[in-house]
Amino acid sequence: MVVRVGINGYGTIGKRVADAVARMPDMELIGIAKVSPDYGALIAKSKGYRLYTLRDRLDSFRERGIEVEGTLEDLLSSIDVIIDTTPGGIGVKYKDLYRRFGVRMIFQGGEKPDVADVSFNTLCNYGEAIGKESVRVVSCNTTGLLRLICTLNNVYPVERVRAVIVRRAADPKETKRGPVNAIVPNPVTIPSHHGVDVRTVLPWLDIVTSAVAVPTTLMHVHIVNIWFGEEVDLDRIVEALEDNERIALIDAGATGVKSTAEIIEVARDLGRIRYDVPELIVWRDSIYISGRELMLIQAVHQESIVVPENIDAVRALTGLTSDAMESFRLTNKVLGITGKLI
Ligand code: NAD
Repeated sequence: MVVRVGINGYGTIGKRVADAVARMPDMELIGIAKVSPDYGALIAKSKGYRLYTLRDRLDSFRERGIEVEGTLEDLLSSIDVIIDTTPGGIGVKYKDLYRRFGVRMIFQGGEKPDVADVSFNTLCNYGEAIGKESVRVVSCNTTGLLRLICTLNNVYPVERVRAVIVRRAADPKETKRGPVNAIVPNPVTIPSHHGVDVRTVLPWLDIVTSAVAVPTTLMHVHIVNIWFGEEVDLDRIVEALEDNERIALIDAGATGVKSTAEIIEVARDLGRIRYDVPELIVWRDSIYISGRELMLIQAVHQESIVVPENIDAVRALTGLTSDAMESFRLTNKVLGITGKLI
């Protein structure tokens, strides 16, 4: 069985998810819907992707000489799953339309949790999404926190999490956002929404997060503090992180990769497309353990970390497999995710 997938919105997340879907053996990318006839549309065409747009945008594409296959409705009538990657708060406005066409829906973390039946992370709750009408793949920061927490919770029962999130101010392509010269509590209130969002997937967890935004576009950094239900052993913690292909441990002392700048430089030198790092990066040197307590520093590439989870969400919604690990491994294999950056 091959699942037919469409994507609405072709920005930071949409273009990456489109490329990933196009590579999956059990999925077919039917097309993408875009509102602006800009460079993104030209690039999508050059990749051979079929373009769709809103009815009132057809003329603007034609005026620029960019051929489109039809409207968003035409796309919806020929797919099984729509992955909505429009800006936060816009996806929910399309929900009724998606539903009219009877397609399964995947929303992103910028939407409110009630947009979908389930907030989703592969390793935490794949099973809850099976056969549902809609899921919301949680945001980049939440995905990073959940990957860590659910990996460690398999080894020791996690009781409490406190995390400080140092947020990138903007994505590289964003020209209108700041800060340029400040550290901004973002939000100034505690808790920040990130921990609240983690609880949409793990409602039982005692988690509080706070966040600041800093003038960088490369990655977020989290300083995470976890208390377990029992004393923990460093080797077992490291082993659990090493065994997870979506987490890459980096040894700063041995490799000289001591910052987000160097992580991205490695990705560029490796020739990774768009210097993407879908793995959660954990600095091995940062892992501190004392009794039941763990502290570590991790980095999240906001533009790409949610891509594998979007692919797994397609399989869960459509029942392509009911085995989370089967989807996890297939996605990783096709996308070349091995748990190792260098
Ligand atoms: P983006 O602004 O880069 O891309 C959004 C795309 O949707 C653009 O192509 C835009 O032209 C299009 N669009 C705008 N209005 C539209 C409309 N009314 N109808 C259809 N398309 C429209 O946004 P993004 O960063 O890719 O974010 C998409 C979603 O993914 C959001 O929910 C966001 O919170 C979430 N997310 C973003 C990041 C990140 O770091 N960028 C990480 C994880 C999750």
